[in-house]
Amino acid sequence: MVGVSEIEAARERLKAHIAATPLVRSESLSGQVGVPVFLKLENHQPTGSFKLRGATNALLCLSEEERRNGLVTASTGNHGRALAHAASTQGLTATICLSALVPHNKVEAIRKLGAQVCITGKSQDDAMEEVERFVREKGMNAIPPFDDPRIIAGQGTIGLEIIDALPDVGTVLVPLSGGGLAAGIAAAVKAKRPEAKVIGISMRRGAAMQASLAAGKPVEVEELDTLADSLGGGIGLHNRWTFNMCRALLDDVILLDEDEIAAGIRHAAEIEGEIIEGAAAVGIAAVLAGKIRPDGPTAIIVSGGNIDPEQHRAIMENSYRRAG
Ligand SMILES: *Cc1c(COP(=O)(O)O)cnc(C)c1O
Repeated sequence: MVGVSEIEAARERLKAHIAATPLVRSESLSGQVGVPVFLKLENHQPTGSFKLRGATNALLCLSEEERRNGLVTASTGNHGRALAHAASTQGLTATICLSALVPHNKVEAIRKLGAQVCITGKSQDDAMEEVERFVREKGMNAIPPFDDPRIIAGQGTIGLEIIDALPDVGTVLVPLSGGGLAAGIAAAVKAKRPEAKVIGISMRRGAAMQASLAAGKPVEVEELDTLADSLGGGIGLHNRWTFNMCRALLDDVILLDEDEIAAGIRHAAEIEGEIIEGAAAVGIAAVLAGKIRPDGPTAIIVSGGNIDPEQHRAIMENSYRRAG
């Protein structure tokens, strides 16, 4: 498991590169559940998501030789964008493998950062296979989106910031896909405050970590179209880090329907004044749906804001195309 000392080291390393994001109180959600509720606004991070933390930490850990051999990754969009950004600020070029499910706005944003974009297959798993080919054939260095101790430690710095700002935190709600975010945050929060609960939240359509935890081992789950597109993809049948950490550290996993996620996106825009993507809305959505009984002051990770503007408008008008 990744420990709190590695997360503290990542925080030191990232100091000059990553801004601490705001933790703001939501009057509306606090009133709804009867405990103070705070939003950790990672949508304010450069590149629009928390993924910049892990990607930057991983890059800063590479040797000169590893940097020279080239960087490659697979991504549902935000990790690729973060790695492309981190690479360009250090004069490096990254190759980002994306499946056809990644929304157009995310693909374009990655291209604009000067990365090599390679679109392949119909799922995150297909994109990951392409990465393995680049590693095998070109000797490039893979920077995985979640199952890597450097990535987990980078994402875990969010947990340290929450503890500093809210030392009596009781519950932390974390969007859950591959589990790098949840594993890192849970490791940091539980080291500092063991009694706090950390709850993972996924969409019902293709919840790979939840299915794997239920099965007691990593399992494959069909990747489906969902409003929470950044939560799509498997955890890898050969998962080394995040599965065990999520199994040991998460107190619960909650699943949401598409309409509940849409309601979370609308609440964020109308009440909190934040434009956020589906994956980032699941914590708010779980509270609105009455699926969380928070224990003490509650922090919700609002993980990113990279939603296609057309889709956001359709969700606001409740005229979006429903998946499934
Ligand atoms: C990647 C991502 C997640 C999930 O992170 P994992 O480490 O894969 O669990 C949640 N929200 C957003 C916006 C993301 O980009």
